[in-house]
Amino acid sequence: MIKKNLLLTPGPTPVPSEVLLSMARPAIHHRTPQFMAIFKEMNENLKYVFQTKHDVFTFACSGTGAMEATVANLLSGGDTAICVQAGKFGERWGEICKAYGITAVIIDVEWGDAVTPEQIKKALDQHKNAKAVFTTLCETSTGAGIDLKAIADVLRPRAAVLVTDAISALGGMELRTDEWGVDVVVSGSQKGLMIPPGLGFCSISPKAWQLVEQSKSPRYYFDFRAAKAALDKTDTPYTPAVSLCIALNEALKMLRQETLEQAWARQRRLCEAIRAAMLALGLKLYAKKPAEVVTAVCVPQGVDGEKLVKIMRDDYGITIAGGQEQLKGKIFRFASLGFVNEFDIMTGISCLEIVLAKLGYTFTAGAGVGAAQKIFAA
Ligand SMILES: *Cc1c(COP(=O)(O)O)cnc(C)c1O
Repeated sequence: MIKKNLLLTPGPTPVPSEVLLSMARPAIHHRTPQFMAIFKEMNENLKYVFQTKHDVFTFACSGTGAMEATVANLLSGGDTAICVQAGKFGERWGEICKAYGITAVIIDVEWGDAVTPEQIKKALDQHKNAKAVFTTLCETSTGAGIDLKAIADVLRPRAAVLVTDAISALGGMELRTDEWGVDVVVSGSQKGLMIPPGLGFCSISPKAWQLVEQSKSPRYYFDFRAAKAALDKTDTPYTPAVSLCIALNEALKMLRQETLEQAWARQRRLCEAIRAAMLALGLKLYAKKPAEVVTAVCVPQGVDGEKLVKIMRDDYGITIAGGQEQLKGKIFRFASLGFVNEFDIMTGISCLEIVLAKLGYTFTAGAGVGAAQKIFAA
């Protein structure tokens, strides 16, 4: 059988052909007016997607690099920070803080659940010296989303800054950085932004910038001060990932043309259809408050979850994600992130049905596809 590959994973995600082709053009040098024009446009488009008028720094790294850069630039050893831990990616904030000698006050949230503004308020009241609160907008490991706007309201009158990992959420879930008052938004290139892995981003508010100037943590390549000095001149301190920047600019132009509001609405609709399909198949959703870019689904009794993902990928070319850590084999994650439309979702659900049936799960054939199609036809 001819194999066609479709990525329905929470990163990496499908890359549009216009974007792929932009990377196939002959290389250009980065210290040229040619690159500068692209870089300028890319930065303006990034501000639009981040919904901020402040700086967005771009680094040649994956999302985790941008997370580490944020910790190193905001805090110093001995500082206290509050870290929300509701899954694998929330845990990462705590681990990075630990690596930099920062005392992490952990708000431990049951996996699948979302932190509440009240929990953040309580932690801040108990730890008045906390300089930052680290959150995850979409906890990709569990598929749960948080109410970041309400959390930002808690932080607004306080000294602590609000940081959110929007690596999977940016471009897919509503996020109004300046309007809500989110001080640092961290993201990566291979999820909602429709390009391959390799770029990490940090947006920064003036409130957070004060911490950057005070931080005593060691940093060199990821020093926000160097990044800002260069960015002020539409430049980068070191060689940027030229081809990825070119690709990003093309992808952001597409996103801008669709409009961010439309992209958010598209993701909402895709996730609504995925959820309806799963329920129609008699499956249970894992997250209590599902995010709008990835849907975590409990593997039904008697079905081998790892085999499900493997057969879909190896026999049919459709890649979804399994569970991580304690959720290995227990959930699968069906993403709609990035360059994905209704028919990609229909294809994914159809493949899921075929493989579920192969693995001995009983349901009415076509029930999931039908439920999704009903939503798309409405
Ligand atoms: C993917 C992801 C990360 C990790 O990003 P890398 O690019 O793999 O370093 C961190 N946080 C969240 C929420 C993610 O979805």
